[in-house]
Amino acid sequence: MEDAPAHQPPGKWFRGTTFKVEAAIFLLLVATFAAMLGQNAIIRQRLTLAPEAGTFAPYAYSDHDNAGASSISLNPAILSWTCTLRSGFAYPYCGYGMLFDPADNTKGRVFSNYETITLRLIYHGPPGHLKLLLKNFDPKYSRAGAGDSTKPNVAEFAVVDGENEIHLTRDQFAVDQWWATSHHLSPEQAKPEFGNVIAVDILSGSGATLGTFSVAVQSIVFEGVYLSSAQWYLVIISVWLVLTAIFLVYRMFRVRRGYEDRQQRQVAESRELVAARTEAEAASAAKSQFLANMSHELRTPLNAILGYAQLLRSDGLTDRQLSAVQTINQSGEHLLALITDLLDLSKVEAGRLELLPAPFDLRATVDNVAQMIRLRAEEKDLRFIVEISDDVPRHLVGDRKRIRQVLINLLGNATKFTTAGEVRLTVSTVSWEGGNVRLRFDVLDTGPGIRSDQLNLIFQPFEQVGSARDRIGGTGLGLSITRQIVEVMEGQIDVMSTVGKGSRFRVEASFPLAAVELPAPGAASGKPAGGAGCEVLVVDDVAANRTLLRDVLENRGYRVREAADGLEAVELAEAAAPDLILMDLKMPVLDGLEAMRRLQHRQTLRMIPIIAISANPTAEMEAEVRAAGAEGLLAKPIDLTQLHRCIEDLLVRRQEDGIADGRQPMTIPPADQMIRLLTLARTGNMRAVRTEASTILNLDPQYRPFALRLEALAAAYQSPAVLRLIEQHIEAGEAA
Ligand code: ADP
Repeated sequence: MEDAPAHQPPGKWFRGTTFKVEAAIFLLLVATFAAMLGQNAIIRQRLTLAPEAGTFAPYAYSDHDNAGASSISLNPAILSWTCTLRSGFAYPYCGYGMLFDPADNTKGRVFSNYETITLRLIYHGPPGHLKLLLKNFDPKYSRAGAGDSTKPNVAEFAVVDGENEIHLTRDQFAVDQWWATSHHLSPEQAKPEFGNVIAVDILSGSGATLGTFSVAVQSIVFEGVYLSSAQWYLVIISVWLVLTAIFLVYRMFRVRRGYEDRQQRQVAESRELVAARTEAEAASAAKSQFLANMSHELRTPLNAILGYAQLLRSDGLTDRQLSAVQTINQSGEHLLALITDLLDLSKVEAGRLELLPAPFDLRATVDNVAQMIRLRAEEKDLRFIVEISDDVPRHLVGDRKRIRQVLINLLGNATKFTTAGEVRLTVSTVSWEGGNVRLRFDVLDTGPGIRSDQLNLIFQPFEQVGSARDRIGGTGLGLSITRQIVEVMEGQIDVMSTVGKGSRFRVEASFPLAAVELPAPGAASGKPAGGAGCEVLVVDDVAANRTLLRDVLENRGYRVREAADGLEAVELAEAAAPDLILMDLKMPVLDGLEAMRRLQHRQTLRMIPIIAISANPTAEMEAEVRAAGAEGLLAKPIDLTQLHRCIEDLLVRRQEDGIADGRQPMTIPPADQMIRLLTLARTGNMRAVRTEASTILNLDPQYRPFALRLEALAAAYQSPAVLRLIEQHIEAGEAA
C-alpha cells in the first residue's frame, strides 16, 4: 500500500507522462491482490508460550500455601515441574503459572481474539485431569486485594502418561466456581472474560488422585482471528478510498496551481501585449502622421501645378503649348493619384480608412464618373454603356468620394485592359431593408479576362497579373484599396472572369435613403446667379495657393481678398464682411479652426459662409469644421469644378433663403424646439434629430438654413457636431 501516489514527492508527478500514474495504480492493484491472498496471515493472531519463548515470569503454588501437604518442584528453564498431591486439604492442588509482566501484575494481554488453544506437553503419572487457567485482571471485581480482582477462566482436560496434544476452544472456559461464589456473581457476570489476561497457569484438575505427577510443557499456542474477511475487505476499500481522496485533493491543488500559474502568465502576457500594442500604435500613429504631413507637403505644390495647368488650358494657347500643358496636367494627375493611393493604402493598413457619409445624389455621381470614363473609352474605340434601373433611388446617404473611387477604379481597369468591344456599368436594386436600399454595381468588360487561379491575387496590394503586355501602367494598388473601401462600407465585392471573353466585377452595399431632397445636380452649376461681384476671402499661408485661388475666382467674376493666417482673416472679415470665406486649416499664428470659432462668436460675422480646405481631410475633421461653423470641407488639391459648384451652391442657397447679404443671423427655432433637439442630440438619436429637422423645415422658411445644416450633420451621424451646433445657437439665443 505504500506505493500509493500520494506518497510520491510532489511536483514530479504528472510532469512527464501519465505512465507514472498508471504504474502507481498497477502497484496498488498488486498490493491489493497480495493483501487479499495473504489475508489469513495478516488477519490471524498467534501467541506461542514455550520454554524458549521465556518472556514471562514463572511461579509455582500448591495447597501447602493454605496449610495443605502437597508440594511442587519446578525447573523453569524447561517449563517442567513435578507435583506431589497429599491429603490434608479439602481439595489438594498444585500448579504452575506464567506471569506476563512481573513488574506490574495488573497489566495483561488481550486474549479475546484467540479462538483455539493447542497444548503440547509430556505428562508422567496416573491418568487424570489438568486445568488451563487464564487469569483476567479487572479492578471492578476488587474486593479484598489484587488477587481477588483476577477472574480465573478455567478449562479442564484429560491427560495420559506420555506425550499429550490437547486442543481447547474458548467456549470450553468457565469461571472457577469457588471464585464466582465468593464474589456473589450472577450467572451473567460469571462469564469468562479475556480482555486483560495477566497470567496463564496449568494446574492439577479437580478430583485429582493423590500421588506424584510431572508435567513438561513443550508449547502452548493461542490462535485467533482478529478481523473478519468482510472487515478486511472494508479495510482494503477504505485504503483505496483514502488514497483516491488524497490523489484527488492533490490533483485539485495541482490543477488550481496550474490554473493560477496560467492566469498569472496570461496577465503577464496581456501586459506585454498591451505594451507591444501601445508601442505599435505609437509607431503607426507616427507613420500616419508622417504620411499625412508628407501628403500635405506634396499636395501643396501639386495644388498650384494642377490649378495653373487647368487655368492655362483656357487661355488660348497654341497646339504645342496646349499639349505641353496637358502633359503637365496628366503628370500632375498621375502623381496625385499615386499619392492618394499610397495614403489610402497606409490608412487601410493602419485601420484608419474612414467614411464621410453625407446625403448625395447617386445619379449625379454615376454620371460624373461616366463622363470621365466615356472619354477614355472613346479614345480606345470602346462602347461605353451605363444603365441605371428605374427603381434605384437618387438621394442616398454615403461617402460619395469613396463610391466614386470604387467606380473609377473598376471602370478605369475595365477600359485600361479592354482593347475591343465594350465596357458596361449597370446599377440595380437588390433589396430594401427599412430605410436602407441595397444596391448592386456591375462593371462588365470584353477584355482579356483573368485566370481563375489569379482571381484572388488581384486584390492583393502590388499584384499585377496577366501577361506583361497587359500591364499598362498602374500601381497594382487599385483593387486592393477598392476592396478595403467596400469592406469598410460593409459591402461585398467579387469578380467573375473568363479568359479571352471578359470580366465582371460586382459590388453590393447598403445605403440609407436621404430624407431631405438635395439641390438637383447642375442646378447651381450654371452661371452663378448671385456669384458674380461677390467678395471671397481666401485664407491660406502659402502664397502660391492664394494666388491660384485668386486667379480662378477672379476668372469667374468674384472679387477676392487674401489673408495669410487666421488672425488676419478674422480682422479682414470684420473690416470687409466678405460674402464667403475659403479657409485653409493648417496655418501659423491662428489656425483655420480657431479662426472659424472666433468668427462664430461675432454676431455680425456668424453668417458668413465658410468652406474649409485641408490637404488631409478625415471624418473627425469634417465634423469639427462643421461644428466650428463651416459649410463643408474640400480636399487639396482643390478640384476646381467642385469648388465652383460648392461656392455657387452656397451663394444661391443663401440668396434663396433671403440672407444673401450674409449679415442676417441664422434664425433659430423657438426655445422649446431647441430644448427638445438638445435632449435628442444628447442621447445621440440622430434619426430623431433628422425627423425634428424636417418638422422645423416645414414650420417656417426662416428656419431653413438651420434645419438644413442640422439635417446634413445628423444624416452623416456627426453627433458631436450636431450637439455643438444646437448648444452654440442656444447660447447665442440666450446672449441676445
Ligand atoms: P493596376 O490596375 O494599377 O495594375 P489593380 O489593383 O487595379 O492594379 O489591378 C490588379 C491587376 O488585376 C491588374 O494589374 C490586372 O492584371 C488585373 N485586372 C484588374 N482589372 C482587370 C480587368 N477588368 N480585366 C483584366 N484584368 C484586370
